[in-house]
Amino acid sequence: MTSKFIKKSAIQILIIIGSIALISLFSEIRQTANSNSLAQIPRFGNPPPNLLKPPKPQILPSGAPTPSPKPPEQPLVFAPPAQFRSQIVYKASISDSKVIALTFDDGPTAETLQILKILQKHKAVATFFCLGANLRENPEIAKRVVQAGNAIGNHTWHHFYHNVTEKTAADEIDNTGVHIYRSTGAKSLLFRPPGGRLNNGFADYAKKKNYVVVMWSIDPKDFSQPPAAVIARSVLSQATSGAIVLLHDGGGDRQQTVEAVSAIIPKLKQQGYRFVTVPQLLQMQASQKQQTADQKPK
Ligand SMILES: [Zn+2]
Repeated sequence: MTSKFIKKSAIQILIIIGSIALISLFSEIRQTANSNSLAQIPRFGNPPPNLLKPPKPQILPSGAPTPSPKPPEQPLVFAPPAQFRSQIVYKASISDSKVIALTFDDGPTAETLQILKILQKHKAVATFFCLGANLRENPEIAKRVVQAGNAIGNHTWHHFYHNVTEKTAADEIDNTGVHIYRSTGAKSLLFRPPGGRLNNGFADYAKKKNYVVVMWSIDPKDFSQPPAAVIARSVLSQATSGAIVLLHDGGGDRQQTVEAVSAIIPKLKQQGYRFVTVPQLLQMQASQKQQTADQKPK
């Protein structure tokens, strides 16, 4: 009985040891098989970027200032409110304040710097419609125009008066736009056609490209170089709120214009006028219209 029991127990122990040995043998075989199959998978040098683990957040020592994230640099854009895109404007209709927009065509030139000085002295701003050819020559002056808070616009590259094909209009306007951006970092959707001509191809192309075509309501004919007093008198006698004044800072000797501007600005300020850029002027009209619409009973 006892020997039978011992025999039975020994057999049971042998079975258990055998089972353990078998299990560990099988698991070893499986591991080898797995590692073999892994070895057959081709390995990539680097994972694609979107599979990379995000870097661990850097823990700053307490008291250290948190670095502020750098805001993405947005280009400055001189654009009219949406309702004026592809439109021609001569002036703005503004009834609730006295504002006026001086505009200077054909620069930037050395005279632009003199005008900037006068504007800064009186804390006034204006809009400069530049020629691509002059922007290429005087990028630093254009930069100062924008840095001083003025608006910049496109006046084509060569100032052609004759009829142009769409291809020429595109070259003239697009290249000038590129040089506005290169010199000032700004984009502009303000366009003034050379000579104010609306039917030679430039204005059509500008409208197609969403520019506002900016004409004027006051022309003191400074281009033909009358005495400064004549230019000043012409502007002062026609001044109204929302007016756009045509002047020139290029295309010839502009000393009369410079002198006239230094007389016009303080006189109009005395009368309560504020000087704004063309986009600001159009924005004021848009906001005023919006306010009127809001006040109407529904
Ligand atoms: Zn011009």
